Amino acid sequence: MNYFSSKKPYFIAGPCGAEDELQLQNIANSFKHIAIDMIRAGVWKPRSKPGHFEGRGEEALKWLSQLKNISSLPICIEVANKEQVELALKYGIDAIWIGARTTVNPFIVQEIADAVKGNQVGVLVKNPINPDIELWSGALERFANAGIDNLAAIHRGFSSYDTMSIYRNKPNWAIPIELKRRYKDIPIFCDASHICGNRELIPMVSQRALDLDFDGLMIETHPNPDQALSDAKQQLTPDQLSQLLSHLIIRKPLSNSSADEIEQIRQILDSMDAEVVDLIGKRMELVAKLGKIKGDNNMPIYQADRWREIVKSRTNWGEKNGLDAEFMLNLFELIHDKSIKTQIHILNELAQDRPAEK
Ligand code: PEP
Ligand code: MN
Repeated sequence: MNYFSSKKPYFIAGPCGAEDELQLQNIANSFKHIAIDMIRAGVWKPRSKPGHFEGRGEEALKWLSQLKNISSLPICIEVANKEQVELALKYGIDAIWIGARTTVNPFIVQEIADAVKGNQVGVLVKNPINPDIELWSGALERFANAGIDNLAAIHRGFSSYDTMSIYRNKPNWAIPIELKRRYKDIPIFCDASHICGNRELIPMVSQRALDLDFDGLMIETHPNPDQALSDAKQQLTPDQLSQLLSHLIIRKPLSNSSADEIEQIRQILDSMDAEVVDLIGKRMELVAKLGKIKGDNNMPIYQADRWREIVKSRTNWGEKNGLDAEFMLNLFELIHDKSIKTQIHILNELAQDRPAEK
């Protein structure tokens, strides 16, 4: 059964950690009334420091296998080595997820991929803790190479030193968007709980993910979040989860009439972009000419006054066109950087052509 492409959006929910049998039964019972597609529960919890709740291990696998008497939903747990995979398979777990701290380690990812080879188990690969798309795609490829086609990615945000951030793990949306571009057949889900770190932000991040055409969500859910043994602040009650799902705007594939309108607008955008690129190309030709003059006259390439004046005038022009100063600065930093590189190249060429000084 290919779980992850069976429905869009696909919803995975359940506690951060499996704490006791009653907690799990409680969750499974409440999901009878919520449109959840898979139950999650951490059985081994990777904790930064010792002395915190590290999961109930094999005992929790026994409780999870008993949940089949309450609910027919498939169950997923986190695994971080091959012994954990073997136990998960022994207890009939339907899917495993690879945690952010594991995706960073290609040796362990390969060990887990070898251990699941030939099994029907679903595999979800979380992004690594650092914003490195190659580690993330490398891990997905290791599972694809092991013959796992019940495969999906989970975006759970990236660690950062920024203590002022509103997020626990910054979303850096460009990274999961690029992953989606590379692997159009691998569904990608958003773990809004670990991105947000607090329950208030979860609706906003969940909606953003759906607006960006993510294939589903993973939301930590606990019967009594404030008493949770791990990640208490970012878990929802089943009622809050139900509220969240009922308020989400689910984007639909294009209707015919809006498809026509979108197509027309896209054609205009295409021709505008062609003009922009043409202009930037012409601008670079002039920059090259300027570089030659500067080189012939032994002038420095970079002139701070000129750069200051560019930033000032362009941000003013931007403001008049509804474009904010930060955007204008980013745009002209890119253009200016390319101009400097073009001129350095010309100066180097001129230097090579000059006869060596005696
Ligand atoms: C979790 O899902 O509870 C977890 C530990 O996730 P992550 O690997 O994203 O930190
Ligand atoms: Mn958690």
